[in-house]
Amino acid sequence: MSNDLPDVDPRTWVVTAARGEDPGDPLNTPLVAASTYIRGGDLGYARDGGTPTWHALESLIGGLEGGPTLAFASGMAAAAAVFDQVTAGATVVIPDDCYQGVAGIADDGVTRGRWLVERIAVDDTAGWIDALQRAALVWIESPSNPLLNIADLAAIGAAPRREGTILAVDNTFATPLNQRPLELGADISMMSVTKYIGGHSDLLSGSLSTNDDELYAALHRLRVLTGATPGALESYLAVRGARTLAIRLDAAQQNAMAIAEYLDDHPAVNSVRYPGLTSHPQHDIATEQLNGFGTIVSFEVESGDAADALCLATTLIRHATSLGAVESTMERRSVIPGQEHLPAGLIRLSVGIESTTDLLADLETALAG
Ligand SMILES: *Cc1c(COP(=O)(O)O)cnc(C)c1O
Repeated sequence: MSNDLPDVDPRTWVVTAARGEDPGDPLNTPLVAASTYIRGGDLGYARDGGTPTWHALESLIGGLEGGPTLAFASGMAAAAAVFDQVTAGATVVIPDDCYQGVAGIADDGVTRGRWLVERIAVDDTAGWIDALQRAALVWIESPSNPLLNIADLAAIGAAPRREGTILAVDNTFATPLNQRPLELGADISMMSVTKYIGGHSDLLSGSLSTNDDELYAALHRLRVLTGATPGALESYLAVRGARTLAIRLDAAQQNAMAIAEYLDDHPAVNSVRYPGLTSHPQHDIATEQLNGFGTIVSFEVESGDAADALCLATTLIRHATSLGAVESTMERRSVIPGQEHLPAGLIRLSVGIESTTDLLADLETALAG
């Protein structure tokens, strides 16, 4: 696969990628349910060589991220494949704020004596640059979950790194429409495809993109060995979901900005975190680095009880975990295992594509208690 971005706008690419080419081909890559192929062709056993449906997803994401891509069974399977590259006893550096599952992989490796872990602040640019000289794996998540802190990826990606050090970026919250880590110097861009690419809360999938041939081969080898392969139906649904990624993001980001401003002015809300607000500590870097400020708004109400009550009081905004789908969902984050350190009243709201007026009215009623 070509390492270049396609010569069309990414907004067009999500619509046109992975289509049939010849007369008589299906316009959409079909859902191919096959574990094995008749000998003599390009494909053999699916776990080794994949299927046309996975390849469609990989080529679509590859064009967006700007690097050859491997699809996995989930975002966690993709992340685990990266951590598996770390040699025994080496150091892994992860953010203080990041997806709890990834922190879980890191901690589990410490418990089992596989590696050492350091955590540094997402916005500590000097700390990340220093880590690139020492660590085997530097894993950054930006914007981070759930505090939406921003790392200066351009500065970090351009800094010298020790031979063999892997710089990986969890690009789930931004999506490659808002940020392309490989262009900024990352070795790997990872996504939970479950979220924005799928976009409809109906599948689990993950991806790793890299322009490093050796790394690609190592990650592919690991996927063959561990069998953390994407599902046929999931890959088909993810391609279908990705077709509308650009317009879903547009609509949800507009809603998110309106909601962030609304909550920022509300007396029952203590603080709002959204990279699009000028009050966000890294608003300037976010403006420079991201094509859009994203669809997640995190905000703090007075107490854990107030947060619980609010999550139960909204009707349009559903009380559920996960993010990046057409429907708005929210939850209190400090009740999630591994997230106990967060403020008790912190709510993470994933804004969907419903009408702005209806969403604001739902919050208004719920906040009025
Ligand atoms: C959801 C998520 C993951 C894990 O992905 P799964 O598809 O749930 O396995 C990793 N990183 C971030 C930022 C996520 O939001």
